[in-house]
Amino acid sequence: QSSGALDPGPAATIFALSSGQGRCGIAVIRTSGPASGHALRSLTEPRNLPPARKASLRLLSDPRSGEPLDRALVLWFPGPQSFTGEDCVEFHVHGGPAVVSGVLEALGSVPGLRPAEAGEFTKRAFAHGKLSLTEVEGLADLIHAETESQRRQALRQLDGELGHLCRSWAETLTKALAHVEAYIDFGEDDNLEEGVLEQADKEVRKLEVALDAHLRDARRGQRLRSGAHVVVTGPPNAGKSSLVNLLSQKPVSIVSPEPGTTRDVLETPVDLAGFPVLLSDTAGLREGVGPVEQEGVRRARKSCNFLDTVVAPLGTRNPSGSSPRLLLVLNKSDLLPPEGPGPCPDLPPHLLLSCLTGAGLHGLLEVLKKELAAVCGDPSTGPPLLTRARHQHHLQGCLDALGHYKQTKDLALAAEALRVAWGHLTRLTGGGGTEEILDIIFQDFCVGK
Ligand code: GDP
Ligand code: ZN
Repeated sequence: QSSGALDPGPAATIFALSSGQGRCGIAVIRTSGPASGHALRSLTEPRNLPPARKASLRLLSDPRSGEPLDRALVLWFPGPQSFTGEDCVEFHVHGGPAVVSGVLEALGSVPGLRPAEAGEFTKRAFAHGKLSLTEVEGLADLIHAETESQRRQALRQLDGELGHLCRSWAETLTKALAHVEAYIDFGEDDNLEEGVLEQADKEVRKLEVALDAHLRDARRGQRLRSGAHVVVTGPPNAGKSSLVNLLSQKPVSIVSPEPGTTRDVLETPVDLAGFPVLLSDTAGLREGVGPVEQEGVRRARKSCNFLDTVVAPLGTRNPSGSSPRLLLVLNKSDLLPPEGPGPCPDLPPHLLLSCLTGAGLHGLLEVLKKELAAVCGDPSTGPPLLTRARHQHHLQGCLDALGHYKQTKDLALAAEALRVAWGHLTRLTGGGGTEEILDIIFQDFCVGK
C-alpha cells in the first residue's frame, strides 16, 4: 500500500496544534505516531484508551505535576485507519491560549513525542499511501481555498480525480508497453495475436488526444488558482469605480462626480460569483482601450443621447495575447425613463445596470459567472483541471515521450519511450516502481493460447 516515494522515517511521534492560532472556542491538537496511545493515557483520566474513533469527554492533566489542564473531547484513531495511517489522537480542547500551550507543553514532556514540522502530518499520510501526490496538493489547495470555485476544484482533486485519470492513462500505457514487449519477445512466434503493434499504436494515439486536450486546458486551471483578470473600462464618469466597488463590495476606488478621477489602475482580488478574480478599474478610454470598446461607446453615445449613461465594458485581460472577452454594460439605468423598452436598440448586446440602485447586478453576476467559467473552467463539471506547473510538466513530458515512440523504428527504443511516458504519469501522482508492468503482461494480456 505504501507509495514508496517517501521513506516514512524513524517512528517519532509528532504533535501540533491543528486548528488556527489565536483565541477561539475550540482548538484541535493532534498527534501521530506509535507513542500516541501512550500520550493519550498519560494526559487523561481515566488512564485507559477510549473506544476507537468515538468522542469521549476526559479530564486532561499535566503528567508531570498532575495539574488539571482542561476538560476536553478526545478521539483515538488507531492506525492504519487514520489520516496519516499511524496511531493518531485528537484533543479538542477549549481554545484559550493558556489551555493550548498547557496541553502542548504536557505532550512535549511525554517521552518519544516531539513537535511536528510544517506539513508533517500530510507527509506521513502520503508516505503511508493514504494520499497520492495530487491528493496532497488538493488538500493544500482546500486549506487555502478562498472562493467557492477554488474549494470545488480542491475537493475534486482531493477526491483523487486527477490521480484516477493519471492512473487510467498509465494503465493504457502499460497495455501498449505490454504489446510492444510481447512483440519483442515473441515476435517470431506464430502464436502471437495478430496486430499487437497496431494495437499499441492505437492506445498511444488515444492517449495523445487526451493529454493534448488537458494541456490545452491547463491555463484555465492556473487561472482558477491565481485569479482571472477582469478590467472595468469606459469613458470618464461612466461609473467604473462605482461598479468596481459594487462588485468587490468594498470601496477600493475613489468614486467622484468629477470625470477622470481614477488615474491609476487598481487591481483588487475579489470573489466574483464564486471565482477568484483580479478586478481593476482603468482611468478610462483615454488609456489604450481596444477599438471594439471604443466603437461600443461611440455607438452608445450616438444612439442614446446620454453623455452619462455610459458603457463600462468588462474584459478579461489575457496576458497570452488572445483577445479578451467583452461584456457591455450600460450603467445609470436609473436615469432612463421608466416606461419604454431598452434604451439602445442599435447597441451591441448589453446589460442594463444601475450602480446606484443595484438594479441589474444579479443579471450581470450571472453573465460574469458564465464568462468566468469559460475562462477559468467550471470546477464542478468537466475534466479535472491541471492547477500546477508540475502537472503540466509531467503531461508535457509524457506527450514528448509519446512523440519519440512514434518516431522511432527501433522496438527497444519504442518500449523505452513508453516507459519514460509512463514514468511521467506515475510521478504526477507520486508513485514509482515497475513491477506492475510485468504483472499486466501476464494478467491482462494473452500471448497465444
Ligand atoms: P468613473 O469615472 O467611471 O469611475 O465613475 P464613478 O464611479 O466615479 O462615478 C461617476 C459619478 O456617477 C458619481 O457621481 C457616481 O455617484 C455616479 N454614478 C455611478 N453609478 C451611477 C448609477 O448607476 N446611477 C446614477 N444616477 N449615478 C451613478
Ligand atoms: Zn473612477
